[in-house]
Amino acid sequence: MTAHAGTPRRLESYVCGGWAPGAGEGKPLLNAATGEPVAFIDSSGIDFAEMLAFGREKAGASLRAMSFHERALMLKAIGLMLMEKKEEFYAESLATGATRADGWVDIEGGIVTLMNYASKGRRELPNTKVLVDGPVEPLSKDSSFSAQHILTPLHGVAVHINAFNFPCWGMLEKIAPTLLAGMPAIVKPASQTAYLTELMVRRIVETGILPEGALQLICGSTGDLLDHVTCQDVVTFTGSASTGRMLKAQPAIIENSVRFTMEADSLNAAILGTDAGPGTEEFDLFVKEVAREMTVKAGQKCTAIRRVIAPRAHVDALVAALTERLGKTVVGDPANEATRMGALASLDQRDEVRDRIKDLSQDAEIVAGAPDAVQVASGDADKGAFLNPVLLYCAKPFEAKAVHDVEAFGPVSTVMPYDTIEEAVDLTHKGKGSLVASVFTNDPKVAEDVVLGMAPFHGRVMIGNRASAKSSTGHGSPLPMLVHGGPGRAGGGEELGGMRGVKHYMQRTAVQGVPRLLSAVTGRWMDGADVNKDGVHPFRKSLAELRIGDQLVTASREVTLEDIEHFAEFTGDTFYAHMDEAAAKANPFFEGRVAHGYLIVSFAAGLFVDPAPGPVLANYGVDNLRFLTPVNPGDTFQVQLTCKEINPRVNADYGEVRWDCQVTNQNGDAVALYDVLTMVAKTWPLVES
Ligand code: NDP
Repeated sequence: MTAHAGTPRRLESYVCGGWAPGAGEGKPLLNAATGEPVAFIDSSGIDFAEMLAFGREKAGASLRAMSFHERALMLKAIGLMLMEKKEEFYAESLATGATRADGWVDIEGGIVTLMNYASKGRRELPNTKVLVDGPVEPLSKDSSFSAQHILTPLHGVAVHINAFNFPCWGMLEKIAPTLLAGMPAIVKPASQTAYLTELMVRRIVETGILPEGALQLICGSTGDLLDHVTCQDVVTFTGSASTGRMLKAQPAIIENSVRFTMEADSLNAAILGTDAGPGTEEFDLFVKEVAREMTVKAGQKCTAIRRVIAPRAHVDALVAALTERLGKTVVGDPANEATRMGALASLDQRDEVRDRIKDLSQDAEIVAGAPDAVQVASGDADKGAFLNPVLLYCAKPFEAKAVHDVEAFGPVSTVMPYDTIEEAVDLTHKGKGSLVASVFTNDPKVAEDVVLGMAPFHGRVMIGNRASAKSSTGHGSPLPMLVHGGPGRAGGGEELGGMRGVKHYMQRTAVQGVPRLLSAVTGRWMDGADVNKDGVHPFRKSLAELRIGDQLVTASREVTLEDIEHFAEFTGDTFYAHMDEAAAKANPFFEGRVAHGYLIVSFAAGLFVDPAPGPVLANYGVDNLRFLTPVNPGDTFQVQLTCKEINPRVNADYGEVRWDCQVTNQNGDAVALYDVLTMVAKTWPLVES
């Protein structure tokens, strides 16, 4: 079986709700492994201004009308559908030169990223249309003027210009946070592998899950698209630094201050710790990791290890071990099960990598591999873009330039020696900002010095050692919950990072005003906003009846010395401040024995709960608990409990309710402040479904 044998098809863009072939003949896209044509690509004739307007006007409003949870469920449905159809994508992926393992990173890695946003979105975001960012900022002494930062979705379109190496992941990792934020997207995959992205977009569109215009696709050139972007649009770019810089300097992008996120090539480094010599587990793990990073996706990964920084004393052993391991890499037809490394994306790309190896050779000697003598176990070494791994050694890395500057986007890395940890860190800085770096060490001091030294120059840093050998996700894997992007040379952008990534598609606004009106804007009660004390205990109200501001003020209760001693004996918490008058007095914070904070919280619950079965189903935690004024025997306190936020769950018969809880003493001083988190039924009594 060879990769992708079939009739070449004409790719179409998905524009303004319909599929559009380009007006021209189309440029042929060749199978990376066989050289056969896979598809023709052309986007001429598309009205890009109309495409942007369609997204903004048609889809923007529909997406913003949905809550975060509704949009997250939409992503989940798409993810489940894509996973069901994954074999179709794997079959198509072979033409890109990717093996099954490479395809897994792109296809399932992408779908899992989308699903991760679907589940984190429902767990970490409220079921609202606006996000509250940070605490209320009181701006007046009497709470009559306050401020709250909020985040709302931008009213434009996010244009995602992607690289050729991850046709699926590259799209999915970007549209997941975009759509979750409530913004439509236009995806422009790199031409070379656009057929796989096009197939995936077709499957997404067919489901009808997304509002019309929420996802549009450009197969081919973007034409004059970037001349029409406005301050409400976002442009993200992944690819070469030169193209990225050129796009970032487009007049409309500069004039309208369009958010532009760039993820460019980067000279990622991996450091072998001074403690990790031959014979240690870290040395073996390091060899494995470097070889893996060089060969996965044939080294065409923005996160791949390009610079291998090792203690001078261990360099020879390291080069020998890497040479042996890389020599065993079976290169060939990605469809062949024995193949461990497939082809580069195209013959042009192979020529490009060979040229870059020549550049690197100004500073370094090739110690393993021969760029011009390709050896394959299957496939055709002339027609397919195959290349065996190439390892270089740079003896004087502080005098060298090319090894810190030139990215050969293929199975290529350069080993370089260091004498001190400071030198190792300085060498990583010579990359002028990278996506990721790793250090392999079992020594806490080495880990501390290297990580803190490298962190300002990197978006992600991984520590590898024996204890994480089995569980580590590896140097090269961007993860949906971690930020991806780096400073300087890496483009200066940031993607993913869990819900941080969603906020890139929203505007942060500081809203000032009277609490009553701020609460109306945010859907969140705050001190000073209206309250409702209608005499019905708020715990007797279902979600259908409960309103923000519903409040209960309890009776007071005295705390006695007996209470404190009983609690201490019962729980075993006999800390001296509760038990020993003299010792407590000697403590600068107390005037004598004090009640346990947890006793106050427990008594508070005793004061505010309504005991009978009712719509409150469970208490699942407290947030932001602070003890402010000590409680001495004889003090009294009472509780003010106010419904702060209501989050009905989609597709469930309950929702989450956040209660503002203020415990005050006989003088009106705050004893404890916290949010109580509960699950509350939508209706009561519960209806059997
Ligand atoms: P490019 O920078 O040429 O292309 C990246 C994306 O930009 C593609 O979608 C491309 O589309 C698009 N593009 C190119 N020119 C324009 C333009 N004038 N207007 C709008 N969009 C444009 O990178 P390549 O994919 O060709 O790769 C070149 C090098 O980039 C690699 O050799 C590697 O060094 C680096 N690279 C880095 C990656 C990373 O993740 N950091 C990933 C991939 C590559 P089209 O394909 O249609 O030209």
